[in-house]
Amino acid sequence: MTRTLFATDALLPGGWAKNVLLSWNDAGQLTQVQSSAQPVAGAQVANGPVIPGMPNLHSHAFQRAFAGLTEHRAEQQDSFWSWRTLMYRFAARLGPQHMEAIATWLYAEMLEAGYTSVCEFQYVHHDADGRPYADDATLSLALLRAAQKVGIGFTLLPVLYQTSGFGGQPPNEGQRRFIRSTDSMLRLLDTLKPACDAAGARLGLAPHSLRAVPPDALREAIAGLEALDRSAPIHIHIAEQTKEVDDCVAWSGQRPVAWLLDHAPVDARWCLVHATHMDAAEYARGAKSGAVAGLCPTTEANLGDGIFDFPAWRHHGGAWGVGSDSHATVNAAEELLMLEYSQRLGKRQRNVGASAAQPHVATALTLEAVRGGAQASGRAIGGLAAGQQADFVVLDAAQLALQGLAAPDMLSSHVFASHRTSAIDAVWVSGRPRVVAGRHALHQEAAAAFVAARSQLLLEN
Ligand SMILES: [Zn+2]
Repeated sequence: MTRTLFATDALLPGGWAKNVLLSWNDAGQLTQVQSSAQPVAGAQVANGPVIPGMPNLHSHAFQRAFAGLTEHRAEQQDSFWSWRTLMYRFAARLGPQHMEAIATWLYAEMLEAGYTSVCEFQYVHHDADGRPYADDATLSLALLRAAQKVGIGFTLLPVLYQTSGFGGQPPNEGQRRFIRSTDSMLRLLDTLKPACDAAGARLGLAPHSLRAVPPDALREAIAGLEALDRSAPIHIHIAEQTKEVDDCVAWSGQRPVAWLLDHAPVDARWCLVHATHMDAAEYARGAKSGAVAGLCPTTEANLGDGIFDFPAWRHHGGAWGVGSDSHATVNAAEELLMLEYSQRLGKRQRNVGASAAQPHVATALTLEAVRGGAQASGRAIGGLAAGQQADFVVLDAAQLALQGLAAPDMLSSHVFASHRTSAIDAVWVSGRPRVVAGRHALHQEAAAAFVAARSQLLLEN
């Protein structure tokens, strides 16, 4: 089995390096990353610049099946909330076999699009009537199997969901498949832990949002998680919508991020997903807490959420990463493009994402998003350095958009000028090639199973 790769150019945590030899062990962990190396006999040679694999820090896999189906006007003024009504209707019919087929295709797509791991924010737990499956972990295990089948790194985040609004409002009919007591969630975590450990996956917890989890339940669930794993990741949807912010203020007198920082042990384990609407004090305090801001630029644009103030977060040293969330777009490079373009439009400036250390926007954004995404995933996937998993993407130097360019410009062209045709040649996860010549080995069969599952869900509409 190949355990070395030679690259003329590679993006290391400190920046671009020449003639890099990557070596890893049987466990797929990088043992040495050597710059200015000579190609060694037997080492595979990369067909273009090597960049670190992107962790996808936020996914609701089943939503992939209705991507593109909500792009028509259904109400006088469509919003996140009218989209959510459609999503609930779709979720109501989903079975374990649909879930596995959709996720298998989605995860293969992710690999082909430059993601090497995914955090699954898994909130559909029960059967269509809202009753627990005979095996209560059925839907979570379907996702874990899908990840293993295609070979993507995995962080499973079962979602705690109890109320339909701030102040303990009872859940509505559309939410019956999501609801769990805190005790039942802790039992689920106990069941899932050995399965995740055996699969090399990380298990964490996702309190859905402050509107769905009352304060006592939040406290008890986190204490239970800590008893199982003191450093497990904790993800929460926090301030996606202005209505959510207004409702939180009406309930508590505080905005969601401020409330969370005052009432929960927020630190580097936490990922604040859609921390879109924060005031200046929340940007400063949130960034300094060590939590990762979970940005989902294409979904946030698709849903009309609003624009995250990226320079404010970075000014305070905030960590961040990207997720494809609703999967209207599944493409690591496009999330970076959308993030940068939202900032340009809002601030009427260019190259907002460049940094003092990295003038090339695509280079700066890639390195930061990999670092933050790894932290949010709770896995050693933070880039091309010894001790990290050998998760990397080989760009296709033969692509027209990239031909004849220097490596930093190749990455810029991949992000900004590849015209949505993938400029990816190969994707490796834990030292194993999962995408070769742009294709995952299961591409065809997974696509067919996905289309069949989607057709079935639509027929039952
Ligand atoms: Zn989400």
